[in-house]
Amino acid sequence: MEDLLSVSFGELFLKGKNRNKFFKAAIDNIKRNIKDIGYEDMYLESSKLYIKADKNDFDDLIREIKKVFGIIYISEIKRCDKNKESIENGLKEILDNMDIKNKTFKVTTNRVDKTFEIKSPEFSQMMGGFILKNYAKKNNLKVDVHNPDFKVFIDIKKYAYVYANRHEGMGGLPLGSSGNGLLLLSGGIDSPVAGFMMAKRGMRINCLHFHSYPFTSKRALQKAIDLGKILSQYTGKMRIYSVNMAEIYKAINKNCHRNQTTILSRRFMMRIAEKISEKNSYDALITGESLGQVASQTVESMTVIEDATKLPIFKPLIALDKTEIIDRALFIGSYEKSIEPYDDCCSIFAPSNPITKPKLKYIKESESNLDIENLENKAIENMEIFDI
Ligand code: ATP
Ligand code: MG
Repeated sequence: MEDLLSVSFGELFLKGKNRNKFFKAAIDNIKRNIKDIGYEDMYLESSKLYIKADKNDFDDLIREIKKVFGIIYISEIKRCDKNKESIENGLKEILDNMDIKNKTFKVTTNRVDKTFEIKSPEFSQMMGGFILKNYAKKNNLKVDVHNPDFKVFIDIKKYAYVYANRHEGMGGLPLGSSGNGLLLLSGGIDSPVAGFMMAKRGMRINCLHFHSYPFTSKRALQKAIDLGKILSQYTGKMRIYSVNMAEIYKAINKNCHRNQTTILSRRFMMRIAEKISEKNSYDALITGESLGQVASQTVESMTVIEDATKLPIFKPLIALDKTEIIDRALFIGSYEKSIEPYDDCCSIFAPSNPITKPKLKYIKESESNLDIENLENKAIENMEIFDI
């Protein structure tokens, strides 16, 4: 008998002809996440991944595997020979190490190998009987098939796999299965969460950060890089583009009405993001906007901002409250970094009374006073790139 981990995938099953591609993406991501911990072997058997590794590493492995999108649960299992005695021994090992006092249970058998002579319901009953005979009296253990405190699973495949625990994964789709997105990553709470949510749907993420050195300190950039590193635990390798907006802010300040600064600068951000995307074949932009949160996040403002690019802008936080966003940031592990103080380029140049209902016509009039093409090209020429 051997101790293994098994990994069960979620929605992948639904995706017909992409199925193999999705499995490969998920397994590649798992391999990447656990390469530092190490494992002996892994193999796929009828839609589940089995990983053989040192039992002492199981907790670390489970923690890292959980960060991979597309997984619904991970189990610690006993791999037994495909006969009654061996399976009973497996059950014993599991139950001897569980707190089963005053609990109810249910056995579920999944007979994938139809040459195994005993049918699933019959075998479940048999093994339930075995458990009751050996454990019921001492532990006041009972069967409850409708609402058990714990379940015992027996999968009959090439081997028999026995387990009683399930560590929940995050679900979603494996990275790389839903195109490439460019995340506009500020130093705030929202944008890392937005990137995480799109990555959870299988989108590969790269980041674009705007700063305005020397008006803001270098720390803002370092913070964005640190946030990128936290995100990359889930999203894998990523590139962070860092663009200096200082000259653009100066030009806006000099030539346009101050209360338009936020909208004008956001439109610059969208156009620059689009140019970078065109060069690198990114399919969509991602922002952390949430409806009504600030002046630039009204329907009217977002409409005018979006007009600056023809790329789709994904805003997964649009209908979330701040408290819900914070909960997610805590889960991801980005919250603590996000709340460190930093000087945001937007807050330094932010007008004290920004317009909340901008009119595209007036914004375009203001833009006609700026040498947009030249300002953007210069900003992109001076862009720095960090690979994480
Ligand atoms: P966040 O918490 O992500 O900073 P926010 O609540 O502060 O968001 P805004 O400042 O209005 O909201 O920014 C909206 C979105 O625009 C951000 O979520 C981010 O995607 C993008 N954005 C804003 N500032 C920057 C920046 N300096 N660099 C890159 N993207 C930015
Ligand atoms: Mg912000």
